[in-house]
Amino acid sequence: MSEKVIDSIRKADKPLFTFELLPPLKGKNISEIYKAVDPLVEFNPAYINITYHQQEVFYKERSDNLLEKHIIRKRPGTVAIAAAIKYKYDIPVVPHLICGGFTREDTEDALIDLHFLGINNVLALRGDIQKGRRSFKPEQGGHRYASELVEQIVNMNKGKYLHEITNATPTDFCVGVAGYPEKHIESPNLETDMLNLKHKIDLGAEYIVTQLFFNNQYYFDFVKRCREYDINVPIIPGLKPITKISDLNLVPQTFWVNIPDELVSELKKCKTNDEARHVGTEWATAQSKELIKFGVPAVHYYTLGRSDNIREIAKQVF
Ligand code: FAD
Repeated sequence: MSEKVIDSIRKADKPLFTFELLPPLKGKNISEIYKAVDPLVEFNPAYINITYHQQEVFYKERSDNLLEKHIIRKRPGTVAIAAAIKYKYDIPVVPHLICGGFTREDTEDALIDLHFLGINNVLALRGDIQKGRRSFKPEQGGHRYASELVEQIVNMNKGKYLHEITNATPTDFCVGVAGYPEKHIESPNLETDMLNLKHKIDLGAEYIVTQLFFNNQYYFDFVKRCREYDINVPIIPGLKPITKISDLNLVPQTFWVNIPDELVSELKKCKTNDEARHVGTEWATAQSKELIKFGVPAVHYYTLGRSDNIREIAKQVF
């Protein structure tokens, strides 16, 4: 068993360095993952997250003009990658587990796989709205909200499986959940969002990782708000350095976050993606330094597969 995130945080005497990886696109090799991890190992990552990607539906036109439905998972392999990293680098891993595409039984089986692999950290998420839909649709017999997933995991930690099993082995997962400094897009207001977040914590989630943000004030206000709502677990800021000019529009569209004026005007001056990557790296470095001064438990970086920019930041910050 590897160290749990909550234990790493509790025993650390300085903010932890952590990052997230995406499984490579189907057909690519796991060496892509190692290429992203290798340059970051010297900064002693406390743990590494691996995202989960649900299946996507797309329609292909046939020669008779009818549409043929195809279902594809573009980035499979989360559990295998988590295990491969854990055993290759001896670094704890946090695979993401989502509600979308899973029945409760699928979830139970996935948790058993992780338990048998000696992986005892999970980030419990709902998953995004499936492409082509207006609202999230759970699998029949699956979970609608991340809170229900948290509940299932916590139950397994107590030895309660979906069906009565005598003397069932309890699992021992440390569960993290997502939080949104700028509010989750589907929440009608901040208060509802906070109450839903509190529900996940009350059910047994032990820490929060935030959605990315570019203005630290959102994080500071979010932490204050959490404490006011009696949410007292560690809150890990998530940062995604800008990497290309088109992020100016794509990032707000994808993650529903604001980009501050100052960063917008710096990015508008960029003529190439390399220049934008440099601006994004500088911005995230400054954000990291300020967050560390504030006393965050860890800084978590979204790599999206390439880690040269995260290495630049880590060199200056950790
Ligand atoms: P939930 O906590 O279930 O919240 C979803 C919405 O429902 C919110 O608006 C909430 O306020 C509302 N809500 C919650 N409970 C209730 C209730 N009982 N009644 C009514 N409303 C309720 N997506 C992936 O597909 N794969 C990943 O690997 C992945 N990793 C992520 C990592 C981080 C750190 C973050 C911040 C997000 C990640 N996402 C990932 C995206 C995430 O799945 C989406 O943001 C999704 O829209 C919400 O997930 P959640 O776990 O916050 O959902």
